[in-house]
Amino acid sequence: TSKAGINGKQETISIKTLFNEIQQLSYPSIVDTDVNVEIDIGAELEIIANRDELKQVLLNLFINSIDALKHKEKPRNLFVKCWSEPDELVITLSNNGPAIASENIKTIFEPFFTTKELGTGIGLYVCKKIIEKHGGIIKCESNDALTTFSLYLPTNGRTM
Ligand code: ADP
Ligand code: MG
Repeated sequence: TSKAGINGKQETISIKTLFNEIQQLSYPSIVDTDVNVEIDIGAELEIIANRDELKQVLLNLFINSIDALKHKEKPRNLFVKCWSEPDELVITLSNNGPAIASENIKTIFEPFFTTKELGTGIGLYVCKKIIEKHGGIIKCESNDALTTFSLYLPTNGRTM
């Protein structure tokens, strides 16, 4: 019997495979914006989560990074890393676009906050909801050199 928990259908997900799919989906924007994408993820890294939701989170963060890089001269870099800690999986997306203003850092996760002409301001709000539903944490750090979004997803004590 299958049981739908708080996150709906849960499955074991290869993070590397997920990012391959995200890169394919984003390929036109990567080329248009001329972003140098480096993805450094071990093939063995997996997480149990709702696949559609996690993909939505990572795609949102990926596209936000590309959007930010449109406002920077080349080189435009987007680095994705993933590693496992004893109790959690950590995923980071870093780009060398313009820093997020310090007064905005606390507001970016709120619904409808956007600095884009055609933005909705929904993306990061949804990301935070999904990650917290999975028992995880999402953080943002930004300075003139790098803007990094980090996800911390628990890997222990899960009930399916
Ligand atoms: P939207 O993309 O529709 O603006 P989001 O919730 O995804 O909404 O993001 C909210 C705001 O957070 C963006 O408008 C932007 O100002 C800021 N932001 C998000 N990601 C980044 C990033 N990687 N670099 C710089 N600013 C960012
Ligand atoms: Mg967005």
